[in-house]
Amino acid sequence: MLSPQSTPYDWCIVGGGIAGLTAARALAQHGQRVVVIEQSVIGHGATAAAGGMLAPLVEARSAEPHTVQFGMEALRFYPEFVAQLQAEAEMNVGYRTEGTLVVAPDRDQAEQLRHLFAEQQRLQLPVEWLSGYELRQIEPYLSPTVVGGIRSQQDHQVDNRLLAVALARAVVRLGGKVIENVGELYPERVGGTWQAEANGVSIKAANILLAEGAAATALRRMLPDIAKHLRPVKGQFLRLDQRELHLIDHVVRTTEVYLVPKNNGQIVVGASAEDRGFDNRNTVGEIFELLRAAWECIPAVRELPILETGVGFRPATSDHLPLLGRTQIEGLAVAAGYYRHGILFAPYAAHLLADHLVQQASNQWIHTFSPERFHEPNRQR
Ligand SMILES: Cc1cc2nc3c(=O)[nH]c(=O)nc-3n(C[C@H](O)[C@H](O)[C@H](O)COP(=O)(O)OP(=O)(O)OC[C@H]3O[C@@H](n4cnc5c(N)ncnc54)[C@H](O)[C@@H]3O)c2cc1C
Repeated sequence: MLSPQSTPYDWCIVGGGIAGLTAARALAQHGQRVVVIEQSVIGHGATAAAGGMLAPLVEARSAEPHTVQFGMEALRFYPEFVAQLQAEAEMNVGYRTEGTLVVAPDRDQAEQLRHLFAEQQRLQLPVEWLSGYELRQIEPYLSPTVVGGIRSQQDHQVDNRLLAVALARAVVRLGGKVIENVGELYPERVGGTWQAEANGVSIKAANILLAEGAAATALRRMLPDIAKHLRPVKGQFLRLDQRELHLIDHVVRTTEVYLVPKNNGQIVVGASAEDRGFDNRNTVGEIFELLRAAWECIPAVRELPILETGVGFRPATSDHLPLLGRTQIEGLAVAAGYYRHGILFAPYAAHLLADHLVQQASNQWIHTFSPERFHEPNRQR
């Protein structure tokens, strides 16, 4: 990567979601001069829509070995990452370790969960099967119809919205800059330097890192061959208020819905998974189904006030793996395609990416997630 001293920044990071912010922080930790450019406000994209679950175990499927393995490594990376970040940003990011319960509110779902549990056992994951009675000992508001389920004490969660705020603070404290509300920004290479202009902001940098999430507008323009492998997967969600009627402390999931309690008394309920482009409207059908499924496992949710409904777009690649690393354009790198796991994946991925970009450290994951795989269809992964 280029690093001429004539430019004020080593890196201009386009996009202030979890991908861009974690990468900016990791690069700044290597002494790189970074600026994050966000078209709107930091963390407002998929990063704000997420449940914040760090759940590689309960989501494990043997058909997705890279996702499971990378997810486990990313989960192990989290406690130290959170401790360091909280110290840098001087704030708490709501990292919670109560664990996750995947429950079956009826016998059909119990059958499905038994299959999932068998698969998790084949993968030798540290999960256990509990009866309905045992589950209600842990979360008393679970429906009396819950017949059993899986407990994973190692699937944790974090407050994704606080995480974005803390990361932006950390970037600034490490000497970087974060600029919001710039509108859509298209970097261009002029005489060996990258330049980007929008809404009166003009940035010059030696290198660009595109972290635009599902939108990938600049990526589509600059590397259409790679960008065509990226698509938005729409997710509708709600936030409920359990400050007056406290229902749960664990992440509670079924095969149809998840409920994630946050320290501020909110419960995130999600999420649909729809291939509908960038349609950002909530629909009656999906919100109804989420609430029905939530009510089936915890009937008392019907008493909770609804604080928010929303939509986010997961950045999915055609092979469901991240896009991480250098591209064939000099000085241009990408951190995208985190799909359903961006909150879990991003801190560890950013750590590996920064080592690779700054110190040329080689790593199997950087090879596996390289954007170049879409230019080399027969490459060995
Ligand atoms: C409903 C839902 C639930 C989810 N739940 C979880 C979960 O529980 N756990 C988990 O690990 N993951 C979860 N995910 C996935 C996770 O949220 C995403 O993988 C992650 O947020 C992607 O981060 P990102 O930074 O790539 O994209 P985003 O968060 O979308 O950020 C991209 C940012 O770039 C900005 N931008 C785009 N183009 C430009 C441009 N040209 N110029 C300037 N700025 C630009 C956007 O405004 C945006 O702020 C969930 C996703 C959804 C939608």
